[in-house]
Amino acid sequence: MVKKVQVLRLGHRIYRDIRTTTHCALTSRALGAEKITIIGETDYSIEDSVNKIVNNWGGKFKIRFAENIKNEINKIKKEKYCIVHLTMYGELLGKKIKEIRKKNKICIIVGAEKVPPLVYEKSDYNISIGNQPHSEIAALALTLHEVFEGKELNKKFPNNKIKIIPQKKGKKTKKRPLV
Ligand code: SAM
Repeated sequence: MVKKVQVLRLGHRIYRDIRTTTHCALTSRALGAEKITIIGETDYSIEDSVNKIVNNWGGKFKIRFAENIKNEINKIKKEKYCIVHLTMYGELLGKKIKEIRKKNKICIIVGAEKVPPLVYEKSDYNISIGNQPHSEIAALALTLHEVFEGKELNKKFPNNKIKIIPQKKGKKTKKRPLV
């Protein structure tokens, strides 16, 4: 059973990818991953906005930058994560999800621009979410949903300062008083 999921986001470019990479991080956090590592141009604005969300909305999600893809993949392998690289060229998720759900720890890799061949070679699985080009955020969300079988939607986020009280209509939040 999958206990830990981390995400590796490749090829981040400041300006061009800021929104998409931030959304990869927020989607990872909201749908059950413990951490995102970003490789590419170091961008402290993303780190700041994700840490602000964690501070207000709770949980233990971590964000960090790394420089070298090969070193990072070797480190993840040493830590015994099964590497699942998302690419439209890969095998269909539906064909492999039962095997993937048996792993203890998973690292999901998503790209931005062209992903180097070593990622295809070193990954345990190259997985497609349908064989059409779309988005790393959509691919990531669907993979997390399939890995956790929907349980991620009930995840608790302890130490939150704000939480939503779901409403049929309108918006209601509960804020923890500042001590
Ligand atoms: N040529 C890329 C590819 O190999 O999937 C598409 C680039 S897309 C702008 C950026 C990222 O979105 C990809 O690196 C991949 O992680 C993800 N992605 C896009 N479409 C996907 C699909 N159908 N299945 C899985 N991942 C996908």
